[in-house]
This record gives sequence, C-alpha cells and structure tokens, in this order.
Amino acid sequence: MPASLHCDAIVVGAGPAGVAAAITMAKGGLEVCLIERGRSPGAKNLFGGVLYTHALAEVLPDFAERRPPFERPVTEQGYWLLSPDSAVRIMHKSERYKSEPAGAYTVLRARFDAWFAEQAVQAGVLLIAKTTVTQVLRDDSGRTVGVATDRPEGEVHAPILVIAEGVNNLLTQGLGLAKGDLPPRYVALSVKEVLALPAAEIESRFGLAGAHEGVAIDIFGDATLGLPGTAFIYTDAKAISIGVGLLLAELIDHNLRPYEILARFKAHPVVRPYLAGATALEYGAHLIPEQGYDRMPELVGDGVLIAGDAAAMVDALHREGSNLAMTAGRMAGETALEAHRRQDFSAAFLRAYRDKLEESFVLKDLKQYRRMTDFLDSTPHFIGTYVDFMNDAALRYFTAQGMPKREMEGEILGLLRGRRSFFGIAHDMMKLLRGMRG
Ligand SMILES: Cc1cc2nc3c(=O)[nH]c(=O)nc-3n(C[C@H](O)[C@H](O)[C@H](O)COP(=O)(O)OP(=O)(O)OC[C@H]3O[C@@H](n4cnc5c(N)ncnc54)[C@H](O)[C@@H]3O)c2cc1C
Repeated sequence: MPASLHCDAIVVGAGPAGVAAAITMAKGGLEVCLIERGRSPGAKNLFGGVLYTHALAEVLPDFAERRPPFERPVTEQGYWLLSPDSAVRIMHKSERYKSEPAGAYTVLRARFDAWFAEQAVQAGVLLIAKTTVTQVLRDDSGRTVGVATDRPEGEVHAPILVIAEGVNNLLTQGLGLAKGDLPPRYVALSVKEVLALPAAEIESRFGLAGAHEGVAIDIFGDATLGLPGTAFIYTDAKAISIGVGLLLAELIDHNLRPYEILARFKAHPVVRPYLAGATALEYGAHLIPEQGYDRMPELVGDGVLIAGDAAAMVDALHREGSNLAMTAGRMAGETALEAHRRQDFSAAFLRAYRDKLEESFVLKDLKQYRRMTDFLDSTPHFIGTYVDFMNDAALRYFTAQGMPKREMEGEILGLLRGRRSFFGIAHDMMKLLRGMRG
C-alpha cells in the first residue's frame, strides 16, 4: 500500500454489507478502496449459514452465472421444539423451493465472502486486506477526509466512508454514532461447529434426494436449556453446520459456558444420530447484535454511512442478517454515488440513506420486531414452558391409553394449567403479540 492513498470512497469491512456497498459504488464509476482486517475476506467471519439471494441479486443480477460457492439450496426448513428427551418438529418442504436460482442457500463464509469480494475486485474495487482501520480522519472543519490504518503511514483518503465493520463497531462508537458497547441483554453469543460428513450420508440422514436439496432447522427449547436463544442445524454440501446462541445476559446470569451448551445440544437424543461419525472441520464463536430498532446507532454522520451489523441490522426471529446487510450496503453505496454527483457529503444530505432504509424491509422489519428482545428478556420462562408443554401434550395425544378422548383433552389442558395459570397464559400471549407487532 502506498504511503497515502486517495480514492473516491472507502469501505471498512469486506463482509456482506461492505462488499455490497463497494460493488454498487464501483459499478457507478467511483474508485473504491475496500479495507479488510482479515488476511482475506471471510477469514474472520462466521454465521449460521443461510444466505438469501433476493439481496444478492439486487447487487449482482447475474450472480448465478458467476458460480457462487453455494453449499446446498434450502428446500426444507422449519423448527424443532426440543424437550430434554423429545422434539416437536414443524418442517416445511416444497418443490417450490427448488427454483433456479433458489431463494436461499447454505454457505460457508470463508468461501462465500472470498468469492463476493472477488466480484468487487472484478468490478474495479481496490481490496486492501490484512489492514485494520484504526481511526476516521477529519480535517479542521470537521469534514471526513479518510481513515488511518494499522500500517505505517497507512492513511487512505476519501470524502466518504461506508463503515461496515460488523458487530464490534469500534469506529462507529469512536465517531459518537453508537453509545458504547452493547449491554449483555441486547447481544447474543453464538458458537458453531462445521462437521464433515459424506454427502450421501447427509442425504440419507436428512431425507434429501441429492445435492440439489438441503435443510435448515432452527431449534428452540432444551437446546438452550429453555432460555431465550436458538440453536440451528443446516446441511452443507459435505458437512453439517450446527450451533447454539444465547443472549450474553443469560450466559452471565446462569454462569453458562457456550461451548458446554453446544456439546450438550450435540448429545441430545434427537440430535445425536444426525451427527454420528462426523468430524470437526471448524469451530468458532461470534456475537449477534439484537438491540433492535430503538437502540440502533445513528446511521449517518458527516461523510459517513453505517451499514449491516455495525448498525445492528439483524432480524433474529427470522435468522436474517446477511440480506439486511447487503441491502443496506447497496443503499449506502447508492447514496454515496448521489453524494458524489452533488458533491455534498454532509450528514444532512446523507440522511437520504436512512429514508431509503425506512422504505425497505430492513427498517420496516426491525421496527416491527422492536420489542422482541425485550419480550424474551422480560419473559425468560416463555420458551422453556411452552416448548416442554408442547412435547408433553404431543406425547399424551399420540399415546393410546384406552381412555375417552375427552378425558385425554382434559389431561392436556391440565398439563398446561400445571405450568401457567389462565391469566399467566393470557399475559404471555399478549406480550408475544406486542413483541411481534411492534
Ligand atoms: C452464529 C450466527 C449465525 C447467523 N446466521 C445467519 C443466517 O443463517 N442467515 C443470515 O442472513 N444471517 C445470519 N447471521 C447474521 C449475519 O452473519 C450478519 O448479519 C452479517 O454477517 C452482517 O454482515 P456485515 O457485513 O454487516 O458484518 P460482518 O459479516 O461481521 O463483516 C464485517 C467485516 O468487517 C471487518 N472489520 C471489522 N472491523 C474492521 C476494521 N476496523 N478494519 C478493517 N476491517 C474490519 C471484519 O473482519 C469483517 O470481515 C448470523 C450471525 C451469527 C453470528
């Protein structure tokens, strides 16, 4: 890297948000520097792994011809509600998931991010890897003029920055756009393993007809000891991605170690048979920002746009984050292009970015679920109580005991009443509804 580099726009972070922004701006004719601290894009990144193609197609309409490193299309998805010894499974399989390209694919971030960043390079973006941005540079009048990096004399200059640094948003905090580290009740810690298994074995265990089918399962209940959180099992081409995540506050309050919860989950009698003989390829942990719409950082500053996890754009309920990140990155890129046309990089002009997001699913969804984390935090018994009840009720329902069915129904009602009073149930349901309707 030369001692001082000049470009039209700088993007910090080569995750989905940053790369989407970089491609959008490069296609619009800007000279873009994309700075990534990892040794290569994806090296530092981990997610569950379902990638939604609607957002990718908005950035790269011909993405399918560019042969992205997808693992499997998601052709079956749903939920497992786990009690200590059983599971109620609500799965949806459809031929309509098999469109080409599919609406969702499993991916491994080390491969996907490297491919996505390569598309940016092909669009003309200058990728600067192994480089950490340490500071945003401002001139005497307070205007953004570039960034400092951890390289000696490694300043990069540009009038506009897209900061897509992910959940550890130190630059966003340094600019005063985010208020310090996230409180533990608004951030989840997730641990994940990628377990190698032959494709034929995966297909026989998950009931898949071949490499053109794949499963994404999100799991609640005993997987997180009944506490607010989720686990997941996704099929890759020749591996299974498995993980579990809980709010940091729950881990602290209950003195839990995430890797022990994952080990416990893998040993669950319903889960274990799917993993038999699989060998670990990867193990990692990552934070997920879940503070929601009301506590998001400011999305713009003078010469600065914030996108993706750095701005807490995660819809945990629907396990969506990469698509929000790509959409926000693209919109940040479009706004930066417009700012260049007008030569106006003021925060007042860049507010158009927030307006675009408010009109899109990104902020509409985050607004709708703005109370979801508070609901789970204030109703910590919710998942454990109702998931255990559903398993006990299912067992009772499916077990013939030579008893009239009306009595059986009464017993099932008793199972619920034994856990929560009538008013308790009504209260929980009202809070759930409020959490889901915003
Ligand atoms: C366990 C887990 C499961 C998930 N599952 C899903 C899922 O199935 N589907 C889904 O859509 N979403 C999922 N998500 C959410 C999704 O991963 C994120 O929302 C998405 O990755 C956000 O993209 P981003 O570009 O904003 O941030 P990131 O992907 O975190 O990228 C940020 C990049 O910035 C770089 N960086 C940071 N600081 C600097 C710096 N100072 N200088 C230079 N580079 C820097 C990092 O190295 C990184 O490459 C999951 C998340 C986790 C943790």
